[in-house]
Amino acid sequence: MTIRKILIANRGEIALRIVRACRDMGIESVQAYSSADKDSLPVQLADASVEIGGPQASESYLKGEEVIEAAKRMGADAIHPGYGFLSENPEFAESCVSAGLTYIGPQASVIRVMGNKAAALSFAIEADVPVTPGSNGPVVDPAVAADIARQIGFPVLIKASAGGGGRGMRVVGAEAEVRDALEGASHEALVAFGSGEVYVEKYLEAVRHIEVQVFGDGKKVIHMGERDCSVQRRNQKLVEESPSPGISPKLRDQLTAAACRLAARVGYQSAGTVEFIVDTDTQQFYFIEMNTRIQVEHPVTEEVTGLDLIKEQIRLAAGEPLCLEQEDIRFTGHAIECRINAEDPEAGFMPRPGVIKEFVVPLGPGIRVETHVYPGYVLPPYYDSLLAKVIARGQTREEAIMRMRRALDEFKVSGVPTTIDFHKRLMVEPDFIAGEVHTRFVKEKMWAGHKLQHML
Ligand code: ADP
Ligand code: ADP
Ligand code: MG
Repeated sequence: MTIRKILIANRGEIALRIVRACRDMGIESVQAYSSADKDSLPVQLADASVEIGGPQASESYLKGEEVIEAAKRMGADAIHPGYGFLSENPEFAESCVSAGLTYIGPQASVIRVMGNKAAALSFAIEADVPVTPGSNGPVVDPAVAADIARQIGFPVLIKASAGGGGRGMRVVGAEAEVRDALEGASHEALVAFGSGEVYVEKYLEAVRHIEVQVFGDGKKVIHMGERDCSVQRRNQKLVEESPSPGISPKLRDQLTAAACRLAARVGYQSAGTVEFIVDTDTQQFYFIEMNTRIQVEHPVTEEVTGLDLIKEQIRLAAGEPLCLEQEDIRFTGHAIECRINAEDPEAGFMPRPGVIKEFVVPLGPGIRVETHVYPGYVLPPYYDSLLAKVIARGQTREEAIMRMRRALDEFKVSGVPTTIDFHKRLMVEPDFIAGEVHTRFVKEKMWAGHKLQHML
């Protein structure tokens, strides 16, 4: 089937990224927006736009039925959900199909199994993909959770099956804390994700987060290498890079093969990401989750492969087969992405929305910026705090770091605090330069002794 007009059911930089992919493919774009985003850049740059509701996401970007109605009204034949919001909601994907619209993502059944992390773990085990020791399924009773924790050894992590964005997770160091953590994680997940189901897994203390970008057409699965997202705060990514500086070629082969095995097992048909944690001492890896959508950090992969991942995702949704074989994917150089958020790192990375005054974006060799922000833009308080992504590419990791430093120095934002200075600090940290970081690096090394260290 041919896709002629896509409704974009998202906002911010990813909406703009999709508008641009549509333009590059000769596809018309319709931007669905909340009243708070009326003046946003994606609304201005899309071919058409349609208001879907009020400023709160629950009144607009999360209202599947409104979004589908708007798509039909505007004559769109497909919907791109971006990331967050409705992007991992199987009922929404199903409703799109029932309404005769193409959903740009995998089949609803695949979103459903992978969207439940506890269920995804069973699929991983079946696909011979290693997982951390744990309950391997939902746990309700604190006594059962405590038993499992004792068997696998503390610390353990209590995780929400429906969790995302680093939320719905509790590290538990001792038996006495199990009950509170289980109830806390479950409650947080119920409020944020509509399901309080939780499970238990071993918490590994010094790990890298390494994920593999996969693409499938229902028959064949290929990968586009890995991204290392070990620089995090509160289990949320701040910096991503490819290739990972922390793994051997052998481990890279094992990770990418495992990711493809899992995707093939579910007949994957779209872009997806298989996430792992890697124990840097033993070089052991463990599957943690699969994201059945495009990811925030996809540009890093685009920079090292020269491919347009959104275009590929749209082509696959139109039912076209993968036109690339694994051997066609060529990896060149190194790319690093810094997430520039409207947050105050000194206040524990608290979001700080406001009016953007000055906004001077870096340019020059090897620099790409994805942003929906402009001077005078009013950053709404209702959504996440991502202002811009700076992506630096180089022939080597050293060159990419030097270019990133230059770009961060050029980047001028006033009106709201940002993470720019944090990234400048990171880019000169000896451990980061040596490629030796783990997911607790920011908290334990960069924020050592800080009064708000406990918040990270
Ligand atoms: P990525 O997984 O693409 O690297 P994030 O983890 O930051 O990036 O998540 C992408 C976006 O989606 C963020 O805005 C995050 O808040 C949001 N998000 C992730 N998972 C969920 C979810 N289950 N429900 C709602 N929002 C989510
Ligand atoms: P989300 O859906 O919120 O992205 P993930 O399962 O991907 O949840 O985990 C987010 C982050 O939490 C990981 O990148 C990692 O830093 C940390 N994490 C998750 N599971 C474990 C674990 N078993 N041990 C140590 N860290 C973990
Ligand atoms: Mg994750």
